[in-house]
Amino acid sequence: MRYGIIADIHGNLEALLAVLFELEDKVDQIVCLGDIVGYGPNPNECCEIIKQRKIISIAGNHEKAVLKELPLTWFYPDPATAVRWTQKIMLTENLEYIRGLPLTLDFPEFQIVHGSLLNPAEEYLTKLEEALPTFDLMTKPILFVGHTHRPLELTHEEKKIINPGSVGQPRDGDPRGAFLIFDAQKGEAEWLRVDYNIEAVQGRMKEAGLPIFLIERLRRGV
Ligand code: ZN
Repeated sequence: MRYGIIADIHGNLEALLAVLFELEDKVDQIVCLGDIVGYGPNPNECCEIIKQRKIISIAGNHEKAVLKELPLTWFYPDPATAVRWTQKIMLTENLEYIRGLPLTLDFPEFQIVHGSLLNPAEEYLTKLEEALPTFDLMTKPILFVGHTHRPLELTHEEKKIINPGSVGQPRDGDPRGAFLIFDAQKGEAEWLRVDYNIEAVQGRMKEAGLPIFLIERLRRGV
């Protein structure tokens, strides 16, 4: 079984379509680690594609914020502005869809969570010391996480925590959409990147009146 692992799409339709174009004939199932919405200009379209293409997803902090299950005070001002904009534009059927997403899921070979097993929607795992409580909670040898928007692999006592990076708002200095192919038989992960039309997304964000900082960071991948 080969899985496509994607995370942190953030309403970036162009990046999502470019990643799916690369992935769909190479894997048996695509799995999303949350933050389908927030920041970008096409949260409804991204939800619809995830549903139509039977991508299995969990919720991230941005889904929780759009549903008002996480307070806006959790966010810096620009992301909070984007959350408020997303709340206004989201269709009822897509709000219902994200309301139904679980915080964690177990597959035969791995587990998935947006942030960490200790605090699924909120905690960032950036280094081994932070990840130790989550390693203790793992019931499978591999856990896929998102949330930091940076590709990462942490190893501890035969277990691995793997982050594919972000589809729609990378923060590792590379503006291309990030994703990962996981071969479950071999236990191997392959990190991949794809170019997409960043200017088109930036243009739509400007039209929507989204914060300039969020528009500009896409070009730099930060
Ligand atoms: Zn995110």
